[in-house]
Amino acid sequence: MSSSSHTFDVLVVGAGPAGIAAACSAAEGGARVALLDNNPRIGGQIWRGQSQSHAANPDARKWFEKFAAAHIEFLPSTEVIDHLENGHVVVHRIDGQRVGAQSIDELPEEVHELAYKKLILCTGARELFLPFPGWTLPNVMGAGGLQALVKSGLLVSGKKVVVAGSGPLLLAVAAHLREHGADVRLVAEQAPWPRVARFAMSLLLQKTKLAQAFEIKRQLSGVPYKTNCWPVRANGNGENAKLESVTLRSGSRTWQERCDYLACGFHLVPNTELAALLRCELRAGFVRVDDSQQTSVRDVFCAGEPTSIGGVDLAIVEGQIAGYAAVGQSASAAKLLPQKRRLDRFAVLLRETFALREELRSAVDSETIVCRCEDVKFGRVRQHSSWRAAKLHTRCGMGPCQGRICGPATQFFFGWKADSVRPPVFAASMQSLAVAVAVQTEEHLMSHEESR
Ligand SMILES: Cc1cc2nc3c(=O)[nH]c(=O)nc-3n(C[C@H](O)[C@H](O)[C@H](O)COP(=O)(O)OP(=O)(O)OC[C@H]3O[C@@H](n4cnc5c(N)ncnc54)[C@H](O)[C@@H]3O)c2cc1C
Repeated sequence: MSSSSHTFDVLVVGAGPAGIAAACSAAEGGARVALLDNNPRIGGQIWRGQSQSHAANPDARKWFEKFAAAHIEFLPSTEVIDHLENGHVVVHRIDGQRVGAQSIDELPEEVHELAYKKLILCTGARELFLPFPGWTLPNVMGAGGLQALVKSGLLVSGKKVVVAGSGPLLLAVAAHLREHGADVRLVAEQAPWPRVARFAMSLLLQKTKLAQAFEIKRQLSGVPYKTNCWPVRANGNGENAKLESVTLRSGSRTWQERCDYLACGFHLVPNTELAALLRCELRAGFVRVDDSQQTSVRDVFCAGEPTSIGGVDLAIVEGQIAGYAAVGQSASAAKLLPQKRRLDRFAVLLRETFALREELRSAVDSETIVCRCEDVKFGRVRQHSSWRAAKLHTRCGMGPCQGRICGPATQFFFGWKADSVRPPVFAASMQSLAVAVAVQTEEHLMSHEESR
């Protein structure tokens, strides 16, 4: 770890739309701002793979340009793994290489301690995966996960794909895959038609979302979109047991759809682990914030999907509010509040429309793997009465993803919640952890000396 102290007025974690907007707004008044992300480039989930010169989306282009013009130190492939008392976080670089770092001594070492006056958490969301028999077969992927692979160069031209689960992301993914030549056989949405129809009607009142919806409808023309429909089994045979088809259910009807890929996700789960580690109060699974995006912890703000799943426009507005509020520009932050309130309604509508149906709980059987990292089956997990007990007795949630996949799944099946979050927030090498512990011990001793 570098011995020099890296202190920022504002440190933003997560370079998706919320983080970019937060960093740009905070930097407007001349504050020293750093933005870090565990990906090599800015953009987050939705603008992944785009850049200032190659941004298909005008909003993305606008924010990439703003970012390039602002004085912001960007730390790529850098992940926050721990939080220390008194305004410090521990970060590590993920790939061990210098991936275009622009500052902090060009990140010469693996682990760093960064100091902040204000911290803005923009850690986004991930897909919710619900286990069903066969969901761990090769080529069964998260819907957004498959989209991300295609954005990174995976060829899907001519491949038969079924997109299934829940939420508007399914349509965005299906459109993207089709644009890249995939043969999208079906989009299966578990929500019932009346709720989806009400959601579609609400878009009529929102000009930009309506335009996006029409564009997606055009891209998906001829592709069946079936509501009230969900996957119950992924089927694969042969030497490599590769995916061959998916069994779908709609009401009492069950049938098989042949496919090379099943892109499957059941809407999104907020990434609240870092906020929880900082002891920010959570409410109904989301980080609780006030009108300035201030969390319950002093000097810590939060914006974007960890506070509510409301789409890119809400993430941007929340990011701007947090950025302004963090540097004391409360008037600029307050001006955006009416816009945020309008967009908040969209978040509520999303939640109500894509609420998960009971029947999804019965798609599993005792042989279904729940924890992919540790190969723990549903039959073993259900013998326990809490997340903690299941972890201790079966190692469910103890693998590299640290329960990010099976935690929300067991919450859906059994109503379990994680008791606490412990560092490291992401899996880190023993070497990184050893350095982090050594520095914390040294600091502890120094502060002890000073207080004597
Ligand atoms: C897989 C996926 C695909 C999506 N695709 C689309 C789409 O095609 N169209 C659409 O309209 N919406 C899409 N969405 C929804 C979209 O992401 C949101 O609407 C919105 O853009 C969220 O913005 P955000 O800034 O809050 O979060 P994100 O864009 O998720 O950005 C958060 C960033 O923080 C990083 N991060 C998290 N924790 C840490 C940490 N501890 N240290 C360092 N970095 C960290 C993440 O890697 C990520 O880059 C997708 C969501 C997901 C999960």
